[in-house]
Amino acid sequence: MEELTSNQLNKIPISASPFPRIVILGGGFAGINLIKRLNKQRYQIVLFDRNNYHTFQPLLYQVATAGLEPDSIADPLRKQLEPVKNFYFRMAEVFSVDPERKTISTEIGELDYDYLVVATGTKTNYFGNDSIMQNAFPLKQIPQALDLRSHLLQNFEAATISRDEQEIDSRMTIVVVGGGPTGVEVSGAIGELKKNVLPNDYPELDFKRMRIILLEGLGRLLNGMSDKSGEKSLEYLKKFEVDVRLNTMVKSYDGLKVTLDNGDIINTHTLIWAAGVQGNYPDGFPEDSINHGRLLVDEFNQVKGAKDVYAIGDISLMLSDEYPKGHPQVAQVAIQQGRHLAKNLKYALKDKPMEPFEYHDKGSMATIGRNKAVVDIGKLKFGGFAAWIIWMFIHLVSLVGFRNKIIVLSNWIWNYFTYDKGTRLIIRRFVMKNKIME
Ligand SMILES: Cc1cc2nc3c(=O)[nH]c(=O)nc-3n(C[C@H](O)[C@H](O)[C@H](O)COP(=O)(O)OP(=O)(O)OC[C@H]3O[C@@H](n4cnc5c(N)ncnc54)[C@H](O)[C@@H]3O)c2cc1C
Repeated sequence: MEELTSNQLNKIPISASPFPRIVILGGGFAGINLIKRLNKQRYQIVLFDRNNYHTFQPLLYQVATAGLEPDSIADPLRKQLEPVKNFYFRMAEVFSVDPERKTISTEIGELDYDYLVVATGTKTNYFGNDSIMQNAFPLKQIPQALDLRSHLLQNFEAATISRDEQEIDSRMTIVVVGGGPTGVEVSGAIGELKKNVLPNDYPELDFKRMRIILLEGLGRLLNGMSDKSGEKSLEYLKKFEVDVRLNTMVKSYDGLKVTLDNGDIINTHTLIWAAGVQGNYPDGFPEDSINHGRLLVDEFNQVKGAKDVYAIGDISLMLSDEYPKGHPQVAQVAIQQGRHLAKNLKYALKDKPMEPFEYHDKGSMATIGRNKAVVDIGKLKFGGFAAWIIWMFIHLVSLVGFRNKIIVLSNWIWNYFTYDKGTRLIIRRFVMKNKIME
């Protein structure tokens, strides 16, 4: 038998194919929608993801606040994409790309491509603040949501046995930073826990002492939505006794003390960081491919300065007259770009010219506890119960996997009628030294 060279040994084994190979990095909304639409095409498709599952990020906050099990917002990528022909999945962290050699480098070796699609989304942006990066809780991945859930519950357990009044207050104070949809939704969900759940679980604690503080650097909440939705969300949060502080920036957090830019100090064991994301692309791209931390693409999602490389979803930056700062980093853009690129790659097989991408904005929404949400759809802007029903419906139909839809719906019905949240479990104790860095 012929011996393999070290170069060959480092190649990830994938069957030979007469078809061009498309390598896709990331099985998020963009990646899976692209792959599903490429089924039965004359391409070999290879997907890489560091996890073997797709994460439905819009409901991560419900996992963190004991509303849902983690399994119900995740779906195995192999199962999800099983019907796709000529498809291979490899679970691996991707480190870098070499657009000259048309190769990617991963933790399990290298692979050549004919076309590369980068769909690796975003990671938490701490804006270079090390103290916050070390000590705050981000909310981008399922393990992070589980860590936050454990940490919140561990704090209440610890508060019941503490004799130190200051420590009890600090453990019962939760600071959320960022008044976008994630910050607003997580604050509302914790408000609901405070109102309906925690006082029953911990009768020995005085919940008048529990504080939820939402800090936002701008002068309003939900900056990407209408003024009306921003104002309504503020009104709803006040009903949950959330102390919303606008025009307030965090300077540092040492794990026990948040220092604000106005000099104020808040003592807390928990700082949830929902203040921003940044592009999460592999190394190796030339400088002119990158703009504002995202991969700069043309109207066909082709990355500037990297031949046969495309970027879709949160990681891509497509500048246009209508979107001079690029599209919003939301699921609908990722889904539509994935589907659109599939269409263009089919055209490429037939030597047909590609079509430019056009975003169809279906609206935006956020929920703030039971019966309350805000919705902007075109000129229609409203809040309250109807908005909440629409929010639930849209999230249910968008969830990946039929099983997940059923589980989430039954959980929501249970929570609604019992005022309970069934997953107040500390499955794995959280310790700060094991915090997942991005
Ligand atoms: C907490 C939260 C709440 C949100 N709420 C909403 C909402 O309500 N509505 C809405 O429209 N949008 C919401 N979003 C935004 C939405 O989730 C994103 O716009 C969407 O997920 C982008 O899809 P994507 O495919 O570009 O990236 P992602 O869905 O982030 O997928 C990226 C994939 O790439 C993989 N990956 C990344 N780096 C590597 C690597 N180096 N190697 C291997 N694999 C890698 C990841 O594991 C992941 O599977 C929310 C986001 C968060 C974090």
